[in-house]
Amino acid sequence: MTFKAEYIWIDGTEPTAKLRSKTKIMAGSPAGVEELPLWGFDGSSTNQAEGHASDRVLKPVFSCQDPIRGGENILVLCEVFDIDGTPHASNTRALLRPVAERFAAQEAIFGIEQEYTFFDGARPLGFPVNGFPAAQGGYYCGVGADEIFGREIVEKHLDHCLAAGLSISGINAEVMPGQWEFQVGPVGPLEVSDQLWIARWLLYRTAEDFDVSATLDPKPVKGDWNGAGAHTNFSTRAMREGDRSWDAIITACEALGEGSKPMDHVKNYGAGIDDRLTGLHETAPWDQYKYGVSDRGASVRIPWQVEVDKKGYIEDRRPNANVDPYVVTRLIVDTCCAGLEKAGQA
Ligand code: ADP
Ligand code: MN
Ligand code: MN
Ligand code: MN
Repeated sequence: MTFKAEYIWIDGTEPTAKLRSKTKIMAGSPAGVEELPLWGFDGSSTNQAEGHASDRVLKPVFSCQDPIRGGENILVLCEVFDIDGTPHASNTRALLRPVAERFAAQEAIFGIEQEYTFFDGARPLGFPVNGFPAAQGGYYCGVGADEIFGREIVEKHLDHCLAAGLSISGINAEVMPGQWEFQVGPVGPLEVSDQLWIARWLLYRTAEDFDVSATLDPKPVKGDWNGAGAHTNFSTRAMREGDRSWDAIITACEALGEGSKPMDHVKNYGAGIDDRLTGLHETAPWDQYKYGVSDRGASVRIPWQVEVDKKGYIEDRRPNANVDPYVVTRLIVDTCCAGLEKAGQA
């Protein structure tokens, strides 16, 4: 018996990394991720090496069933290392690992809302060949062939994510034709990030069979159209439970606003963030920080139900659709968990 293992990794493309993958035929039945072998690739073709010393190492860190190929076949997400065993400069997961571990006792969990846009050639799916469709307004969570473009792809992607065992929590149509969202989580920082990268790979791969491309471009159409974000919902155990949860929620919001933190975060929340965080289209301006209850024009929103319950989670609305989840979860854990610790509220 043989099976196919699709080794997936994040490349060195700048300013926004891309996914790459290749197939390894293996004997027997799939083992746990720890037992899967290391593999290599040509880093000079992925902006991860110079041609004269081009070998880079793939180390499996997460695996799941391959819903595209079915059977015993698997998807294998990898970290990239240099041949001497140091994490490659593009390996942002390696930076998250120690931060997640340091604050593990706070039990941080994340739910990430991944917005994206389908393209048919050079046009967003559903845009007429000439000009523009009716202005946005009716498309969000819409129904009907005049408003909805690509639902068959979205449904197939959702089924694939579920078959792979990912913690997908929902999908919805977004404010522009051809624009959609899926949510992953809530699970821990490494889990949500690994699963989001796999879900992105499955999105591109699923759409490929429909001759459609999907993009995480944060502002796929200029002008009066919403951009695409990756709202990042976050909580720790102290924010979810106990009689001082509300204090912990406020402490987390304040920690995100302290000193240089707003800039430290925003500049790592995805290339082109100043084009999307304009202050219009349900965003706060990129160079201002504010938080508020139910405020979709704030940087960080406290959902209304959370204010009612006085416990729950906060939503960082700033990350772009093209954000690296290993980076956004690291920054939020680092800032908020340290803030909670300092306030004696962890
Ligand atoms: P929105 O109203 O902003 O569109 P969504 O329903 O799209 O909200 O997404 C909300 C996200 O919040 C989901 O991914 C969900 O898993 C996540 N979430 C729910 N509870 C928590 C929690 N306690 N901590 C972190 N994330 C959470
Ligand atoms: Mn949402
Ligand atoms: Mn959305
Ligand atoms: Mn949201």
